[in-house]
Amino acid sequence: MSDYIVVGAGFAGCVLAERLAEVYGRDVRIIEQRSHIGGNCYDERDNSGVIVHRYGPHLFHTDSTEVYEYLQGFGEWREYHHKVVASVDDEIVALPFSFKTLYQTFEESKADRLKELLISKYGEGNRVSVLKLREDSDTLLRELGDYIYEKIFVHYTAKQWGIDASQVDPSVLARVPVLTSYDDGYFNDRYQMLPTEGYSKIFQKIIDHPLITVELNRSALEMISIKENQIYLDGEPYGGKLIYTGKIDELFGYTYGKLAYRSLDLQFEVIDKEYYQDFAVVNYPNEHDYTRITEFKHMHPTESDQTTILREYPQDYVSGMNIPYYPMPTDEAHGIYLRYKELADRVSNLILLGRLAEYRYYDMDDIVERALDIYKEL
Ligand code: UDP
Repeated sequence: MSDYIVVGAGFAGCVLAERLAEVYGRDVRIIEQRSHIGGNCYDERDNSGVIVHRYGPHLFHTDSTEVYEYLQGFGEWREYHHKVVASVDDEIVALPFSFKTLYQTFEESKADRLKELLISKYGEGNRVSVLKLREDSDTLLRELGDYIYEKIFVHYTAKQWGIDASQVDPSVLARVPVLTSYDDGYFNDRYQMLPTEGYSKIFQKIIDHPLITVELNRSALEMISIKENQIYLDGEPYGGKLIYTGKIDELFGYTYGKLAYRSLDLQFEVIDKEYYQDFAVVNYPNEHDYTRITEFKHMHPTESDQTTILREYPQDYVSGMNIPYYPMPTDEAHGIYLRYKELADRVSNLILLGRLAEYRYYDMDDIVERALDIYKEL
């Protein structure tokens, strides 16, 4: 019997497995229900020859030197600063909304005035949530906040989450702040990079260890169950540690009902053109049913006469039908999660980790950091 069972071969499970095997010399058994490792970071070259991220664009960015250095050990990474634009009123403007966007949007004298006001209020080079801007004491800044909210956030958020922006946790909108600078990078982290040969190769290296075994196409919950705070494996009490990165509600048999997740219908298209658009990602806050178009060639430069684009159509998650990409960022859903967490806390040899298990909108670097922290605690 393995000392450790890891359910799920995404960043959470693979990093923890690697540390346990490499540093502690422990046997680790990874159980993965899909036919591949890498979780939603999984990528591959498609017919056009371009590396595409099969579960949507994954841009790596972190301020953590520890995370950065850890990942350098598993293959080559290329510095890559992600840029996003939005289509607003038939114009392409920079995102996040910055001074650059200000001058793209308003006539010069108005942009000058707003820029001055923003600097005097928030200082230069800072990041302000659009929600805070909408509550500013200055009328002009409030109006600017309302404009950005209406043109960039309201309709995109309604598409993305299926609910009104006012019901979405403010931290979600704050992921895309208003910038009091000319920065046109989507992220401002110290390290921003992409794996030169794609994420799948990195994952293969992470788990390439004699003490790690991976079982693909296996549903862990067919062999694992929890009854009265005890984990059972194939019907027998399990004394090792279970590191679970799947859905917490499913692990506990939906005792408190189903947690809501948001899913995406991802529509890839190979196009007979060298490039389709000028940027890696174009957001469509107000037009179309999709939220954005990603062109992977900008992220993974490739010589090819063709290019691959991805349109993302958000939709509700339905078990067995699509993939639970995002936990719902609402108070109600969080309340249900907390009840499940209480159940999990009673199981001493259970460790929950990741977007689904912790019901949290983690970025990749947060997950790696958390896995490294848990390994240290263990
Ligand atoms: N958002 C928006 N308009 C945009 C980009 C983002 O309203 O053009 C909001 C939306 O609610 C989205 C959130 O900001 O869910 C976070 O955006 P991010 O780009 O971080 O989303 P992800 O890439 O994780 O899907």
